[in-house]
Amino acid sequence: MTSTAVGAGRYAPSPSGDLHLGNLRTALLAWALARRTDRAFHLRLEDLDRVQEGAAARQLEDLAALGLDWDGEVVLQSERGEAHEAAIQRLVADGRTFECYCTRREILEAPSAPHAPPGAYPGTCRDLTPTEREAGRERMRLLRRKPALRLRAAVDSWEVEDLWAGTVTGAVDDLVLRRGDGVVAYNLAVVVDDAALGVDQVTRGDDLLSSAPRQAHLAHLLGLPEPGYAHVPLALGPSGARLAKRDGAVTLRDRLARGESAADVLERLAASIGLPGLRSADAVLAAWDPATLPRQPWVVDLPA
Ligand code: GLU
Repeated sequence: MTSTAVGAGRYAPSPSGDLHLGNLRTALLAWALARRTDRAFHLRLEDLDRVQEGAAARQLEDLAALGLDWDGEVVLQSERGEAHEAAIQRLVADGRTFECYCTRREILEAPSAPHAPPGAYPGTCRDLTPTEREAGRERMRLLRRKPALRLRAAVDSWEVEDLWAGTVTGAVDDLVLRRGDGVVAYNLAVVVDDAALGVDQVTRGDDLLSSAPRQAHLAHLLGLPEPGYAHVPLALGPSGARLAKRDGAVTLRDRLARGESAADVLERLAASIGLPGLRSADAVLAAWDPATLPRQPWVVDLPA
């Protein structure tokens, strides 16, 4: 970390496969935003599940090939279990949690509160009697599962600041903190790990914008600073759906195999943010004005 750094940005991919052009663009913007605001920049691999063998190393290589650098060691989320558990125990001690014995199917089929989004937790296990809880635990034993642990939310919405979306108010619900299979939930891990790295600038795809209020609320409950957010519009394939492998040669390695260079790929990413002709991450860093980021999704139109 440079001694002048105040705060930090980060990029936090899940190592579930190679990064596609949309992911690489978000990484480039996360890096450029952190660097031009004199922040440190960290990489964290969110490897609690959905891990593909070898993907983590390839992701790091691809980011480096595009000219991105980062401060300190790459953090593996799977090695942060003690900190995650300590945060959970704090919420338990504060009386802010409850065990949930519902199956996914029961949650989907339960009548939900008016105006609640489909699949929202209907509150089934929130206020059970001790006898009902014992019956729930017994049922879990028979199903050979553990209860999930949920947050006992005391608010139903929370406000966050996003660099591009402005002030965003979103739902806070009784979200899962630890899943029935014992794995710590993403929403908890991301909050604990960002705070531990001093991250005050969370840049990522805008599919996670609606999760930001519940994450910021969790930070608040844990006595951690609430970060600022910078959600980047997603990349779409030619069909108008979210860019994916089925859209063809969409990763850096795919493009290299088609005879392009890393600089060619960088040029494509730069053009997508209104900076045609720039062929290095450093050139983007020097020229980019974050205020000009296109607010619509990036429709990726690739030569075959
Ligand atoms: N690991 C998540 C993903 O790859 C991103 C989480 C985050 O940036 O907060 O979609």
